[in-house]
Amino acid sequence: MNLLPPLLTPRHQLTLALHESHTKAEVYDLAVVGGGATGLGVALDAASRGLRVVLVEADDFAKGTSSRSTKLVHGGVRYLAQGNIALVREALHERMTLLRNAPHIAQPLAFVVPAYRWWETAFYGIGLKMYDALAGATGLGATTFLTRSETQSALPSVQPQGLRGGVQYWDGQFNDAQLAVALARTAAREGALLLNYMKASRLLFTQGKVSGVACNDMLTGKAYAIHACCVVNATGVWVDALRAQDGQHQHIVAPSQGVHIVVEAHFLPGSKALMIPKTGDGRVLFAVPWLGKVILGTTDTPRDDLSTEPLAFEEEVDFILREAARYLRVAPQRSDVKSIWVGLRPLVKPPDDEGDNTKGLSREHTVLVSPSGLVTVTGGKWTTYRAMAKDVLQKCADSGLLPQRQGLTDHLTLVGAEMTPIAPQPLSAPQGLHSYGSEQKWVQQLPGHDVFLTGGLSEAMVRFAARYEYAVHVEDVLARRSRLLFLDARLAAQWAPRVAQILQEETGLDPALDSFVQLAGQYLFPPT
Ligand SMILES: Cc1cc2nc3c(=O)[nH]c(=O)nc-3n(C[C@H](O)[C@H](O)[C@H](O)COP(=O)(O)OP(=O)(O)OC[C@H]3O[C@@H](n4cnc5c(N)ncnc54)[C@H](O)[C@@H]3O)c2cc1C
Repeated sequence: MNLLPPLLTPRHQLTLALHESHTKAEVYDLAVVGGGATGLGVALDAASRGLRVVLVEADDFAKGTSSRSTKLVHGGVRYLAQGNIALVREALHERMTLLRNAPHIAQPLAFVVPAYRWWETAFYGIGLKMYDALAGATGLGATTFLTRSETQSALPSVQPQGLRGGVQYWDGQFNDAQLAVALARTAAREGALLLNYMKASRLLFTQGKVSGVACNDMLTGKAYAIHACCVVNATGVWVDALRAQDGQHQHIVAPSQGVHIVVEAHFLPGSKALMIPKTGDGRVLFAVPWLGKVILGTTDTPRDDLSTEPLAFEEEVDFILREAARYLRVAPQRSDVKSIWVGLRPLVKPPDDEGDNTKGLSREHTVLVSPSGLVTVTGGKWTTYRAMAKDVLQKCADSGLLPQRQGLTDHLTLVGAEMTPIAPQPLSAPQGLHSYGSEQKWVQQLPGHDVFLTGGLSEAMVRFAARYEYAVHVEDVLARRSRLLFLDARLAAQWAPRVAQILQEETGLDPALDSFVQLAGQYLFPPT
C-alpha cells in the first residue's frame, strides 16, 4: 500500500478557504463549534457522510477538557457498580472500535486492584467478571484473581503490608490530545475545513432560525461569517454561553474539576496500572504508566468558574498524594511532582439539581435541538466520542437540519493508522518516532530528524507539527503534539525557546513563547 503524503495545514490557506466561502456566501451543510473530542468526532462523522463541514475552535484543538483526561479508553467499571449497563456496554463497544482504528494512539492496558481486606478479591473479581461478560467478543483479556505474590509481581511497588491478593482486569489507554489532532486531520482528509484559533463570537439567525456563526480569528482579529444549514454547539463546559445567545438561559452543565499529578516511572515500575475502586472519600483513584511517567488521579470537585487553565486546589493535590501513599511502597512527595494538570468535566445537570455532589451526576451525553435549530451536545466521555457523534447526526437528520445518511466511521482508520505495525510500542514507553504510526517516514524526511531537543522530541517533529498538525504556538507543540508540558513542566519550559525558533521559521507567525513559559509555571506544584 502506497501511503499518500500528509495534508499540509498552512494557516493562510485555511483562512483563505474560510474567506472565500464567506465572500461567495457559500452555505455549509454543517458548522461545528468546538474542537475537542465531541466536536471533532461530529465533524469527522459528518465529513465521512459526504457533507460539507466546517469546524471552528477558539483555541487549539483539545485545549479544553480533551487533553486533560486520565487517558483511559474504558467501559467505566464504576458505572457498572452504579448499574448503568447500557452506558458500559456502549463504551466497551467503542473501546474496541478505537483500539482497532487507531492502534498507534490507543492500546489495551492491564489494571490491578490490590486487595487488603478478605472480601475485596471476591467482591471486585465478581464485578469485573461481569465487566468481561458485558464486553463479550470485544473483551481485551480475561479478569484473573491474583495471589499475594502474583499481585506483587504485577505491581512491584505496591504496599506489601496487609496485602492479601488482587484482581487483574483489562481496559484501554490512549493519548487524548494526539487522538484529537488525528481526528482533525482525518476529518480534513475526508474534506472538512477545520480551523483552530477561530472563535465563534455570535450566532447568526435568518427568520428566527440559526443560520451560521460569526467568527473571530484569534491570531489576527479578522472577522468571518460562516453560513450553514446546521450549527452544532460542541463547546464542552462552555455550551451554556452559546445557548444563552439562542435565548436558552437554563444552564445544563455542572462543571467538575479533575486534577492529575505526574511523577517518575519508578513509583510504579512495569507496564500495569493500579486501580483503587474506593478511596477514603469513595472516589476511584488510578496510577497509570503513560509515556515514560506515571499519572496519579483524579479528583471530582464542583467548580463554577470556567477558566481554560483552572488551577488545582492544594487539598486536591494532598488528597492524591495521601491516597497514593496508602497503596505505594515509596510514597511520592510534593517535590516529586513533575507536572500537574486540571480538567473540567462537562457533567450534564438534571433540571432540578441544587446539590454540589458531582460524583453522582451523569457521565452520559445529552443532545438538545432548540426551537431555532441550534444543536447542543455535551457530557459523555472521550471513549464514546464516536457514539456521541452518531447520535448528534441522527438528531440533526430527525430534525430536518441535515439529510439522512449512513455514517462510515466504524471502520475508518485514523491518520497514522494505515499499516501500523501489529505490535506498536506500548503507551507506557516515552513518546518517540513510533508514536507517528505509519507517518514515521514523513517525519524522517524533514530537516532535524536526527537532532533531538529532549528524548522523544526531534526538531523534525516540531516542523511536522507546524506543517501538518495545525500547530502555531509553542504550547500547541509542547502541550498537545508532544506531551512534554504534561509530563515534565520544567523540561518543557527549558526547550520552549528552541521550539519557538523552529515554529517561527516554519510559519512566520508569533509562536507566543512568553505566554508558554508563564503557563509552564502553572503546571508546577506549587505554581510559580
Ligand atoms: C479529569 C478528567 C478525567 C477524564 N478522564 C477520562 C478518561 O480517562 N476517559 C474518557 O473516556 N473520558 C475521560 N474524561 C472525559 C472527557 O475528557 C470529556 O468528556 C471530553 O474530553 C469532553 O470533550 P468536549 O469536546 O465535549 O469538550 P472540550 O474538550 O472542552 O472541547 C470544547 C472546546 O470548545 C472550545 N470552545 C469553547 N467556546 C468556543 C467558541 N465560542 N468558539 C469556538 N470554540 C469554542 C474550547 O476551546 C474547547 O476546546 C475525563 C474528564 C476529566 C475532566
